[in-house]
Amino acid sequence: MRIVVIGTGYVGLVAGTCFSELGLQVQCLDQDPDKINLLNSGKIHIYEPGLEELVAKNIRSNRLSFTLDKSILSGADLILIAVGTPAKEDGSANLTYLNQVVQDIAHHCPQGKPVMIKSTVPVGTAKNVAKQLKDLRPDACYEIISNPEFLREGSAVQDFMRPERVVIGCNETIQGVVKKMYTPLTNRGIPLLFTDNQTAELIKYTSNCYLAMRIAFLNEIADIAEVVDANIDQIADGIGMDSRIGRKYLSAGPGFGGSCFPKDTAALSHIAHTHGKPSKILDATIEANNHRKISMINKITSALDGKLDNKKCAILGLTFKADTDDVRDGPSLDIIPALLAKGITISSYDPRGMDEARKIFGDKITYHNNPYEATDSADVAVILTEWAEFSAIDLMQMTGSMKSPVIVDLRNMFTIDKMANLGINYISIGRPRVSSSS
Ligand code: NAD
Repeated sequence: MRIVVIGTGYVGLVAGTCFSELGLQVQCLDQDPDKINLLNSGKIHIYEPGLEELVAKNIRSNRLSFTLDKSILSGADLILIAVGTPAKEDGSANLTYLNQVVQDIAHHCPQGKPVMIKSTVPVGTAKNVAKQLKDLRPDACYEIISNPEFLREGSAVQDFMRPERVVIGCNETIQGVVKKMYTPLTNRGIPLLFTDNQTAELIKYTSNCYLAMRIAFLNEIADIAEVVDANIDQIADGIGMDSRIGRKYLSAGPGFGGSCFPKDTAALSHIAHTHGKPSKILDATIEANNHRKISMINKITSALDGKLDNKKCAILGLTFKADTDDVRDGPSLDIIPALLAKGITISSYDPRGMDEARKIFGDKITYHNNPYEATDSADVAVILTEWAEFSAIDLMQMTGSMKSPVIVDLRNMFTIDKMANLGINYISIGRPRVSSSS
């Protein structure tokens, strides 16, 4: 089976590579020449553990290739769409890229083929795409398959190869093609859930919004824990041991971010309002998360006792989560500009995200080779991302060269007992503050 994957971003590159690893013939199409040139030279433009090796392996096996040439669409047995669907000003999903792709498919594949939508798209998009293609090519048959993706950046290859389920919205007539495509996974016992298109589209949004809601809720509980001297990590353990709740997505932190949760919560809220069925819970989740950013900024400035003149803040972690280079909609994008606006100087370190961050912050902040350089002579060090290497920092060495040994840990990477023993001023989330004198 020969598939063409349109869009070689975090989802398209992983999906294309993994399908080739599963034995399909895959051609990846993108409109960005820099990405395609890099991919053809055996390198990849994103950081995703295990992906570069898998790309190289499948190029060598002649099952995976990359191109800018849209004419390859004509030879596809199935076309998979994985272009971005970023948020518009009003929160709705921007379908410009998707609509462009639909035009390309009609133009370069006039005979009609199954079209699989992996991008996260508003409910009703599959139907609209079918209608657009029917208008453009009345005599051709394009079956539209909604196949939302649930991979997480940082563990994307593993998530794609061993998903807990694959959701597929399509007509019964095309189910056989999809089953064939996913045979290597179903042979491993991975279930396929067949639904109609709109249900599959809504499953994706519901899943992300539910997880976002858990995070926002736990963050509010963390605020309560802080004022009543309780410990949010133990609260998360305590409720997480209940199998009805589970422990995942129960980590208090600076609020949800990244390329999916903020835009998907906004998009589902927009869909709900458009259909006259606003979701109070979803809107509260979005509001709570927006407020979270403000309270994190206040947490940092109050660690400086509100005296912000000539202060230097070291930011450890720029990506929205660990094990990715993605900074899109991460907490650093709100927190850093707010601190800069207050006249605070920012130095930074991130194991993988500095190239992406540089595109956004330019020379407004400084970038360093390690946490020690970034925190040198800083008044406060803020841990924004839960990179594993931060838990191995020599805290005495680091705080020894800071102007004052104050750490604001927005990921609860250290125990408060450890920080109390080391005599470090330590402010974390939903746990008692440790001061050097305590
Ligand atoms: P991305 O921005 O990383 O990649 C999109 C790619 O599409 C880019 O390489 C871009 O150049 C290419 N593209 C855009 N228009 C094109 C066109 N007309 N022809 C060819 N290529 C084109 O996006 P992403 O993070 O991979 O997300 C893609 C979709 O998957 C989104 O809808 C997103 O919500 C969804 N999704 C993302 C994740 C994630 O973790 N990133 C997880 C699940 C679902």
